This record gives sequence, structure tokens and C-alpha cells, in this order.
Amino acid sequence: MSDQLTFQDPTTRFPDITPPKQDQPEPGLDAELIPGTDRGEDSYTGTGRLRGRRALITGSDSGIGAAVAIAFAREGADVALSYLPAEEEDAQHICELIRAEGRTALPLPGNLSDRDWCRDLPRRAAEGLGGLDAVVNNAGRQIAVDDIAELTDEQWEETYQTNIHAMFRICQAALDYLEPGSTIVNTTSIQAYSPSSHLIDYASTKAAINNFTKGLATQLAPKGIRVNGVAPGPIWTPLQVSDGQPKEALPHFGKNTPLGRAGQPTELAPAYVFLTSAESSYVLGETLNVNGGQPSP
Ligand code: NAD
Ligand code: MG
Repeated sequence: MSDQLTFQDPTTRFPDITPPKQDQPEPGLDAELIPGTDRGEDSYTGTGRLRGRRALITGSDSGIGAAVAIAFAREGADVALSYLPAEEEDAQHICELIRAEGRTALPLPGNLSDRDWCRDLPRRAAEGLGGLDAVVNNAGRQIAVDDIAELTDEQWEETYQTNIHAMFRICQAALDYLEPGSTIVNTTSIQAYSPSSHLIDYASTKAAINNFTKGLATQLAPKGIRVNGVAPGPIWTPLQVSDGQPKEALPHFGKNTPLGRAGQPTELAPAYVFLTSAESSYVLGETLNVNGGQPSP
């Protein structure tokens, strides 16, 4: 199979998938997703861009986070993986791939809606990896609800806890360890600019993440710590089948992008690698859109 360094047509690099209607309880598993995704197992080649780095990546058991974890390991980084205990099967698969590169994989199962767990994660990562100089805040929850009248207070709070409150707490606690040259990359979304009517809680957390990223970037710049974001478009991951999308939308997922297909998780990895590596030393407060061509600010 070709890798991300091979000259190729982006419209056909990956097939135009038509996923069948399917349902998984939250959080979904990559192990049960139909069709399966490309997280870079056979399609990401490292070039030493993160040699010796020590990274904490949330939501790195599956989807985009898993693709970032594989890429970081192949670029020479050790990785601490944050995920929910129910995702152990997916997480172990990614840990094996990281170890196959001769890098350290440190599994850290736990719930990011627990504030104490968030505050403790950077310490655990730093102790397990011998330091911490890269954080990727990528965990997120997305549950579609058509009508604001049906959107429960509990869901509203849970979405905010997972997507933005946890990000604040992890960034704050990580600063005890991050030295000049370190980086934070936050996962936002096209939803930050173009909210879907059935995702008002989720989309508004993503707008908050964009703003938080820019503000924190200016605050931490004098310390030599760079903060940036990545805004994915429609990427085929377990998030979509665990109530992230209405079921009837699944077969059409990603087809209305200018490229005409959904993205695969591994197509996100180079953006995170770039924003974490020193080659982006003058890039701060940026949100890199990786969305198949949808116009965005
Ligand atoms: P995913 O389901 O594979 O990853 C999300 C991860 O978040 C889960 O694996 C889980 O480990 C973690 N998570 C959720 N709730 C948690 C909690 N309470 N505690 C600990 N971990 C928790 O799906 P994905 O699509 O790869 O999502 C990754 C990020 O990308 C999310 O922030 C999502 O909002 C964002 N995103 C995805 C898309 C897309 O189309 N897939 C588009 C834009 C943005
Ligand atoms: Mg998962």
C-alpha cells in the first residue's frame, strides 16, 4: 500500500465508503466498526521528526488519536495513551503497534469527566515516560440530538466536561512538566464554524476549543510553549456510530465534501506531527483544517 509520502490523487487515495447503518454503545470501538478505518498501520512512514519526544495523547485508542499515536511512535516519540476503560481492546492494539517501533507505550485508562483524573494524567505520563514535552488533547464525545427540548442537562454537562473542561485541566496540570520547545495540540472541528443542527452542545465545545487554543497560545508563547489546533472534517471513526450521527446519515458520511469522500484517521496524523515537531516553531494559535476542502476560516 502507498504511504503518506507517495505522490497520489487525494480523491482516490482512499475509497469512497458507504457505511451501513450500525450502532455501538458509547464509546464505540474501532474493532467493531464497519468498514474498518486506516489509522496508518500500513500507510504511515516515519521520518524521525519527533525523535526522543514524550507525548500524552487523549482518546488515542481509536480513530484520529490512534492514528496520531502510531505516527508519533514512527516519528520517534514515546506515547502515553489516555482512553476509557471500556476501550481496552482498541488501546492494546495501538500499544502493540507503538512497541513494535521500539517506543514506549504507557496505557492510562480513566474517565476525563473526572477532574482529579485529568489533573493527575500529566504527572502519570511524565513519570512513566521520563518527562513530558507534547500533549495532544483529542478525546471528545459527540451525541446527536435533533431537538433542543430533548437535549438533557446531563448530556450538555457531560459533553462540556469531556471536550473542553478536561482540556483546560490537562493543559493546566501539564505545565508543571512542559519545558520550552514543548507543544500542545487540541482537536477542534469543522463544527466550530458550521454547526450541525443536531450537534449544538458538541459544536459549541469545538468553537470554545478554537478560542481557548488561540488565547492559551498567546499566553504561553513567551514561555516557549506552542499551542495549536487541528479541525477535522468528516473522518470515519467509532464516534460516528455511537450516536455521533443520526443512523440514516451514516451511508452518506463525508460524501458532500469537495473531495467527495470521508477522510481516514491517518490523513490527520501529519497535521499533528507538523504542529508538534520543531519545524513549526513559528506557528502558534493556528487551527489547521483537515476537512476534504470545506471552506473554513
Ligand atoms: P473516537 O471515538 O475514535 O475517539 C474519541 C475518543 O475520545 C475515544 O476513543 C475515547 O477514548 C475518548 N473519550 C471520550 N469520552 C471520554 C471520557 N469521558 N474519558 C476519556 N476519554 C474519552 O473518535 P474520533 O472521531 O477519532 O474523535 C477524536 C476527536 O476528533 C474528537 O475530539 C472529535 O470531536 C474530533 N473530531 C472528529 C471528527 C470526525 O469526523 N470523526 C470531526 C471533527 C472532530
Ligand atoms: Mg475509542
